[in-house]
Amino acid sequence: MLVVQKYGGSSVATLERIHGCAARCLATAAAGHRVLVVVSAMSGETNRLIALANALVRPEDDTEHRGPYVPSAVRTPEHERELDQLVATGEVVSAALLAMAIQRAGGRAVSLVGRQLGMQTDRSHGRAKIVSVDAARINAELDAGAIVVCAGFQGADDRGDITTLGRGGSDTSAVALAAALNADVCEILTDVDGVYTTDPRVVPTARKIDRISYEEMLELAGQGAKVLQIRSVELAMRYGVHVHVRTSFDDRQGTMIVPEEPTMESTLVSGVALERNEAKITLVGVPDVPGVVARIFAAMAELDIVVDMIIQNAGAGGLADVTFTVPEAELERASAALGQVQFGAAPPAIRSDREICKISIVGLGMRTHAGVAAKAFALLAAEGINVQMVSTSEIKISVVVHERYGELALRALHDGFGLAHGAADEAAAP
Ligand code: ASP
Ligand code: MG
Repeated sequence: MLVVQKYGGSSVATLERIHGCAARCLATAAAGHRVLVVVSAMSGETNRLIALANALVRPEDDTEHRGPYVPSAVRTPEHERELDQLVATGEVVSAALLAMAIQRAGGRAVSLVGRQLGMQTDRSHGRAKIVSVDAARINAELDAGAIVVCAGFQGADDRGDITTLGRGGSDTSAVALAAALNADVCEILTDVDGVYTTDPRVVPTARKIDRISYEEMLELAGQGAKVLQIRSVELAMRYGVHVHVRTSFDDRQGTMIVPEEPTMESTLVSGVALERNEAKITLVGVPDVPGVVARIFAAMAELDIVVDMIIQNAGAGGLADVTFTVPEAELERASAALGQVQFGAAPPAIRSDREICKISIVGLGMRTHAGVAAKAFALLAAEGINVQMVSTSEIKISVVVHERYGELALRALHDGFGLAHGAADEAAAP
């Protein structure tokens, strides 16, 4: 069997933990498997490197930039190239250290970084897309009996320049290599023991999910269940890579993310997620004629603002109201841009509301079972929670409620749909 193991930043945060990873790699090899490892930078390292670059180009800003990259004024192609050279070193360090640790423990290991990986990307520094994977070198090292330790997050473009895949990109590196090498499983080893039915810090009754489909995982990840880079799940789905999210601290089984199986539809709801960082914009009195709504959303698209839910009420007197949600961080830019849209003689009033959150209920079973929405509304009503907006897809229902009720709503829906720890046993009891 070929096993890909990806160790996240917290799993390689200290030398002691790196020794722990080495022991795990060796145990996997001792069980008779070929082992391909992908590592992240030691936790905090990527942020530290970005902060260094930011401090260099903007010494006058003493606020620490947490965002991925420096303000656009200095975001020249030359700067972005150097930034990738810089941030990619975080993974280079952990790959070399882990290979050394495996060697010290008596194993054979080789680290591969940058161009040695054979992962070719396009030239978009900081957000590169993988173009192809040439696994010849990796295969040769595996054939020679080595544990191959790859630096995650990076590739090289057609000129051989180092590129990076975007924050959290090591997950994508791991899945891409697993796909290219036809690995039997891609283990994502992290500091949580799997994917939960909801955030256990908010809902103590949350349960670990044993198996979940790619589709459901994408919906949950997109809704704020941030265990994996979403892109890695999309890639896993495209190539059918079986992903196992599990803790690196012990041997417990985690969550398998796999192709849909027939039995999965018997579970009505698999998980619920809360997204707090949303804001709502309402345009009151929009001319109810063709082209106006197109102009509104073209303005958002031009700024790369991701619009999520959209509601337009039935027009009356030639005017309609349009309400939609945007990431809270984009609210000001969005409002400013809406002020510039041409609406004609009587422009609509623009109202915004930050005090909202979105809760999503996800499950393959919704395809075949009616009444999930009705039940969700009843559960919310029982708690006196007003629903401001709703959207549905084949396997998801999302509602917007006042921020104040977010956690209460999450708990009510989670437990109401029988996801609570022990719920199945109670239901089975006479
Ligand atoms: N080190 C990179 C980051 O912090 C990539 C990763 O950890 O996946 O974003
Ligand atoms: Mg990560």
